[in-house]
Amino acid sequence: MTDAATPEARGVPDAEWARAVSALDRAGEVCLACHVRPDGDALGSMLAVAQALTARGVQRVTASFGDEPFGVPATLRFLPGLDVLSPPEAYPERPEVMVTFDVASVDRLGLLAGSALRAAELIVLDHHESNPGFGTVNLINPGAAATAVLAAELIDRLGVPLTAPIAAGLYTGLVTDTGSFRFSVTPQVHELAARLIATGLDPDLYARELLDRAPFGYLRVLSAALGRAVLEPGQAGGYGLVWTTVTRQDRAAAGQLPYEVAESVIDVVRRTDEAEVAVVFKEADDGCWHVSARSKGKVDVARASVRLGGGGHSRAAGFGWCGTVQDALARLRSLLAADTEPDGGR
Ligand code: AMP
Ligand code: MN
Ligand code: MN
Repeated sequence: MTDAATPEARGVPDAEWARAVSALDRAGEVCLACHVRPDGDALGSMLAVAQALTARGVQRVTASFGDEPFGVPATLRFLPGLDVLSPPEAYPERPEVMVTFDVASVDRLGLLAGSALRAAELIVLDHHESNPGFGTVNLINPGAAATAVLAAELIDRLGVPLTAPIAAGLYTGLVTDTGSFRFSVTPQVHELAARLIATGLDPDLYARELLDRAPFGYLRVLSAALGRAVLEPGQAGGYGLVWTTVTRQDRAAAGQLPYEVAESVIDVVRRTDEAEVAVVFKEADDGCWHVSARSKGKVDVARASVRLGGGGHSRAAGFGWCGTVQDALARLRSLLAADTEPDGGR
């Protein structure tokens, strides 16, 4: 790794942090938003900052995400501080100060994109390389393991001490985006984890809630998806592609399970030794597909995903697709062949 790629070297300038803190200090109301279909990093970071702003004395804190219908994924309902959330219909149209969490581009705000474009001050807190810096203040560090790392820094700079409920959201973000301390692990990640655990939170609870539980029907869904997985050893520049689908039919047959049970299937599929790239097509209730792509490092899946209208990180990315799986696969195969880096990528 070169110096330019270290988290420190790619950090956010002090002046940008100072602008964010002064905008937040001046505001009577602060509006927070994370990306649609939030994961633990997006929602956890937002809830942590919401509680910190309230502790800091901000009079009104609004927090939401732009999904229709609006609902917190079942896997994240154990988080403290969910009462700050309100549906996107109740969100101010022209926020005085708005902060986005884990949002790589405006369209990932869904129904809240318009509010972001009209906000007087827009603070963007994110760790996606592809983020163009769409805020008036950009707190973006692609070297950060999670948006939660940046949220922790913002909370420190606001001078708010870490409490257990604030730490809960940050720890959730850290566990989610590091795959429970497997990816993007640096001394700073463990130092932050140590500070968070020192507030009194129970790490076992987070492991169980975030990684180790599912309804019984999940076993049926997983079985169906794994049973039809396809290995294509010649694809992805000869490094191998493995892919499968999780359909609405799978979820219906397993007891009308919600979409989010499909999310963790990629974590099993990507284990495949014979494939550098793993892809899971997850069918949403509206019949469109959310596609998850993972790479072990030799292929940049973010580049292909961006070309297909999505985004993400070089080793974990995704996109939405309303056509057939076969059409998406044809596009992916040709993009992945072009995005293979013989030096192993980053
Ligand atoms: P997932 O496969 O849903 O866990 O997402 C992996 C990474 O890709 C995350 O950083 C997401 O933010 C990003 N990502 C997933 N789907 C999309 C999308 N439709 N548009 C932009 N980024 C996405
Ligand atoms: Mn995310
Ligand atoms: Mn993230």
